[in-house]
Amino acid sequence: MYRSRAVVLGAGIVGAACARELAHAGFETLVVDRAGPAGATSAHGEGNVLVSDKGPGPELELAVLSRRLWPGTLEEIGQRHPERAGAAEWIPKGGIVVATSDAGAEALMSFADEQRAAGVRAERLGSGALLAAEPHLTPAHTAAVHYPDDAQVQPTGAAAALLADALDAGAELRTGCEVTGAVVRDGRLTGVRHRDGVLGGDLFVNAAGPWAGRLGTLLGAPVHVEPRRGDVLVTAPLPPTVFHKVYDADYVGAVGSSAEDLQTSAVVESTRAGTVLIGSSRRRVGFDARLRPEALSAVARKALRLFPSLAGVPVMRAYGGFRPYVPDHLPVIGADPRLPGLWHATGHEGAGIGLSVGTGRLLAELVTGREPSLDPAPFRVDRPAVTDRVEEERA
Ligand SMILES: Cc1cc2nc3c(=O)[nH]c(=O)nc-3n(C[C@H](O)[C@H](O)[C@H](O)COP(=O)(O)OP(=O)(O)OC[C@H]3O[C@@H](n4cnc5c(N)ncnc54)[C@H](O)[C@@H]3O)c2cc1C
Repeated sequence: MYRSRAVVLGAGIVGAACARELAHAGFETLVVDRAGPAGATSAHGEGNVLVSDKGPGPELELAVLSRRLWPGTLEEIGQRHPERAGAAEWIPKGGIVVATSDAGAEALMSFADEQRAAGVRAERLGSGALLAAEPHLTPAHTAAVHYPDDAQVQPTGAAAALLADALDAGAELRTGCEVTGAVVRDGRLTGVRHRDGVLGGDLFVNAAGPWAGRLGTLLGAPVHVEPRRGDVLVTAPLPPTVFHKVYDADYVGAVGSSAEDLQTSAVVESTRAGTVLIGSSRRRVGFDARLRPEALSAVARKALRLFPSLAGVPVMRAYGGFRPYVPDHLPVIGADPRLPGLWHATGHEGAGIGLSVGTGRLLAELVTGREPSLDPAPFRVDRPAVTDRVEEERA
């Protein structure tokens, strides 16, 4: 029996999640990456799975879907391979957003009200409850909200678990294979070119993360996805100091901003290894991978405002990566109407780890014509932010 062949271009966490869903849906699935799996952005971020930082709208809906899918997905994987699910380090620890100014408190409270109206659990914490939950937090806070549904994963462990599960379901992986162009027959994408030949298929999924714009151009269907740099500090392992995902109320503004210049906010979380991750910055500097001391020190200053006791703690290393940024801050998920056979699953900016499983589910639902779990229209490819602006820039 002929099985449709799906070729997923990119083996980051989004490609892995798409491949898993497609393989389980019965597609003959091939995952292609120019390097190895989960070695690019998915290995250079943090592992927040957040509902707390998203206002009512399509991204929140995708986040809620993903949050619902994560535990079951890892449970299914864990029934067959407990060590793989374990490596994903799922911790439903909850998030706490903290304001340190009166204006910040007001903004935080009205944001939380809107989220509550959209069904998100968001509980105001009084000072006593806050300091009981986070004893090392600054006493100079003005408001705090607890989001019990925030969680975290270890991103590369999670990506590897999703990909390995796709392979168990019959998918194949081809690494060291850079896609360089398209084979188009009668207006339909039927193959992708690489150095040694052509890979044919019935459908192709552009899951190339921050390189999705470049890949789209190579395939003849440009999309406006570009890199947005972020840097993170990692402390040496510490005794338990930070118990939730804790971030300052400015974070939501930095995420939603489209400014090219440096935006920073403090997002502080401990990992199972005992290290504390202190993120993060946002800046559009192309693919310039140099670490920026000024970005790191701005992030550190803001983290110290939340956790003064981190002042004496040794920093073990710093790293950074490129978020796949779309000007309207929404992922691109769906068929490309300009080139039948091409689909996109990209543009998740700073939330692609958390949103990966919902993205894979939605993509597979669209590909197979099943009832989608949520309205896919806001993520469509032919929206102005994704295609018009590319045309404008080229004009
Ligand atoms: C500092 C920082 C902090 C972050 N924190 C979080 C967080 O806490 N929570 C969260 O949810 N998200 C976070 N993110 C965002 C998250 O990391 C990304 O949204 C996610 O990793 C994107 O995954 P991806 O699979 O789309 O891209 P990638 O992981 O970059 O994968 C794309 C793959 O495509 C391959 N590729 C590219 N071009 C080609 C080609 N021509 N041929 C073949 N292969 C190709 C690449 O080699 C790569 O492996 C953070 C990001 C950064 C930078």
